[in-house]
Formats: sequence, structure tokens, C-alpha cells
Amino acid sequence: MLVLGGGPAGASAALALARRGVSVAVVDPLGFGGRLINLDVLRDCPGPLEGTAGWDLAATLGEQALLAGVEAIFAAAAAVSAEPAGGWRVTLDDSTAPVARAVLIATGTRHRPLPGDEEGALAGRGASYCAVCDAALFAGAPVAVYGAGDRALAEVLTVGEHASAVHWVIPAEAPPAAAAHSDVVALRSLDVLLGTELQAVRPVEPAAATEPAAATEPAAATDAGRGLVLILRTADAQRELHVAAVFGAHGELPNTEAVAAVAPCDDAGFVRTDAAFACPGRPGLFAAGDVRTGASPYVAAALGEGTAAGLAIAAFLGV
Ligand SMILES: Cc1cc2nc3c(=O)[nH]c(=O)nc-3n(C[C@H](O)[C@H](O)[C@H](O)COP(=O)(O)OP(=O)(O)OC[C@H]3O[C@@H](n4cnc5c(N)ncnc54)[C@H](O)[C@@H]3O)c2cc1C
Repeated sequence: MLVLGGGPAGASAALALARRGVSVAVVDPLGFGGRLINLDVLRDCPGPLEGTAGWDLAATLGEQALLAGVEAIFAAAAAVSAEPAGGWRVTLDDSTAPVARAVLIATGTRHRPLPGDEEGALAGRGASYCAVCDAALFAGAPVAVYGAGDRALAEVLTVGEHASAVHWVIPAEAPPAAAAHSDVVALRSLDVLLGTELQAVRPVEPAAATEPAAATEPAAATDAGRGLVLILRTADAQRELHVAAVFGAHGELPNTEAVAAVAPCDDAGFVRTDAAFACPGRPGLFAAGDVRTGASPYVAAALGEGTAAGLAIAAFLGV
């Protein structure tokens, strides 16, 4: 039995299977924890996990899985194909290709790239998707967060501890519920830009670094000879905003490239399953967690889905 992805969904499924005596390996270049590895504070998590660090839960999940006998394979799945006699072959990026009767797809999602950073060219130049990782690099400088909802809220709260000003760029006209969060309201340096699309991000040109021009917060970003220009569009105007960094939190893309040839995916690329986490018409192929169509993108949901999928797979294997 192979689990692709060692985040909370994959680790929970592997644990449930190993504790029922199933031989199970988790394939993930990062080991165990998935997105938890970069989460400082867990929110919307019922019980004692609320307020704890995601990386602590990641470590606990990994320890539990290994103690239960789960094998960790530090590799990425590159492709999955059906075996003629039944089962699934998973080609890994380390050139091995194990075969398993059942495979769980728990590869989660990744951030949607900022417009202008589709190829990742602005990595290390101010475009970031992880405030916990990078916010301190821009201490004392103005930054922006793009997106609405709980993920953007988490980024705003984290960058708010470091930045001189936080421009929260929100495409919707109405403020999201997250904007009423008491910790957000308490952020004195916050500037909420409603009804505003981020059209493009580009680096500050060297010549522009000395010209205040259209900048609203130019000092820290441009005096340092670095920074970004955000092209912002509202219903009736376009303007530029100079910042030291921008944090993208405006949606997620499914990590399904490796399974696209065999898994039934919706138009956005998420894996479709039935109520028992099985892919219809693909015996032995299952999916759980954020990668699944209709999943709730929260840790508690991923832990629950993973456990339930593990039990469903055990039943499929006749354990
Ligand atoms: C900034 C941010 C803040 C968040 N804050 C909270 C919060 O406060 N509370 C909360 O409940 N939720 C929060 N979440 C959401 C939560 O992290 C996710 O819902 C949860 O981690 C999903 O678990 P998962 O196992 O489905 O996927 P993931 O955690 O994404 O794990 C997927 C794993 O699959 C691996 N993988 C990908 N492709 C392959 C491949 N081809 N082969 C092998 N492995 C692969 C990845 O390396 C990764 O380790 C936050 C998310 C973000 C981005």
C-alpha cells in the first residue's frame, strides 16, 4: 500500500493502516507534515491543537507513523499507471517504480502564483507565499498581502508583527469575515484595499529606486535598492504601489500532475472521489485531504479524512 503525500491526510491514513497490520509506505520528498511544517499557529482546530504550532503536530504525526511501522520514502511521485493484472505502478523521481494494490493520493495543494511570478522568477526578490518563513526579512518595511479568507488572514497577522505597513489587497468589494478578526482590527499599520485586483508584480527598476513618483510607501522598499511594484486595478482606476514584499494568499492549485493520467479530476484539477474516498471506476485508487474535490482545507478535516480513508482502504484490502 502506497500513500502519496505525508501531510496530515496522508500521515493519518498511513497510521490507521499500519495499526491494522497493513504494510504501508509514505512517499514524500519532505517526509511527514506537509503544510504543517510552515505553520506557526494552528487556528480553527478544535480541542488542544488550537493555538499550537503546526510544526509540532508535524513531528508528532511523523513519530506516530514511524513507530507504527510506516516506511518513509523520501521521493516524489512522478507518474502513476494501472498494472494489467490490477494494482498501480508509481514511478518515483529516484528512478524506482514500486507497485501496490492500493494507492492513496494525498498530495495536497500549492499556492497559486502571483501574476508576474508564474515561473517563480521573483523568488528571493520579494514575492513570497510563506509569511512565517519570510516576514522577518522585511522588518520595518511596507509589505502587501494579496487574497481574502483565512489563509490571507494568517499572512496578515504574521507580517503585521514585522512590517512598517501592511497593505491587504482584497479583490472582493465587501470586507471578508476575516477582516473583523480582533487581532486584525488591532493592527495599526493595516491598510485594507477592497475591490482591488493585483494585475501584475514586477521588480523596482534601478532608475525608479530614486524616484518617489507614484509610490505610497516608497522609503524602505526603494532606499534599499530593491522592492516590488504592484499594479493594482479597481473598478475605475489603475495605480502602482511600491512595497518591499508581497505575500500571495489568493488561492490554491492541486498537486495532481503525477496522477492526472489515472485519477478522475474536476476542471480545476482536484481529484473526484465517492463518499468512501475511492476514485470511481479505479479499484484501489483513493484520495483524501486538500487534493480532493470538495475537501475543507483545514488540518482537522485532513486528519479526519486521512483516518477515514485509511479505514476504507483497509476494508478494500480485506483487513
Ligand atoms: C499559510 C497557510 C496557513 C494555514 N493555516 C491553517 C490553520 O491555521 N488551521 C488549519 O486548520 N489549516 C490551516 N492551513 C491549511 C492546512 O495546512 C491544510 O488544510 C492541510 O495541511 C492539508 O493537509 P493535506 O495532507 O491534505 O495536504 P498537505 O499538508 O499540503 O500535504 C501534502 C504533501 O504532499 C506532498 N506532495 C506533493 N506532491 C507530491 C508528489 N508528487 N509526490 C509525493 N508527495 C507529494 C507535499 O510535499 C506535502 O508534504 C493553512 C494553510 C496555509 C497554506
